[in-house]
Amino acid sequence: MPQPGGGQRAMRPQRWLYEHLTGTALHPSTLLLHACDVPLCVHVDVDQAVSHLAPGTHRGNMLERVQRGRHRNGATAIRMAGLKRSERVALSRELRAAFRDHGWDAAAIRACRTGIASDTPTLW
Ligand SMILES: [Zn+2]
Repeated sequence: MPQPGGGQRAMRPQRWLYEHLTGTALHPSTLLLHACDVPLCVHVDVDQAVSHLAPGTHRGNMLERVQRGRHRNGATAIRMAGLKRSERVALSRELRAAFRDHGWDAAAIRACRTGIASDTPTLW
């Protein structure tokens, strides 16, 4: 991304999209937190009620991490935990392709993230 004083700056696509859509330049210390816990997600909307990404702090991110069981020792069904890098890359690409080809589908994303098919009965 070109800078006012010349040169370029690399930035995550989520961050670029957030700044582009909202017209708000994020402070470098401000993080964008995923409400959906999908690191590749770029579902940004100016309407915070539907946006998956919102500005936050490192502390807030760590609190959410524990509350949602995203840490490695948490009881979580997220398929990414404990996978080799090559396997995480393959799953991320699968997720990206599904989003590109079919748009946002919460059931399909859940199935991709958890390995549980959308038609699998749940306990409750
Ligand atoms: Zn998302």
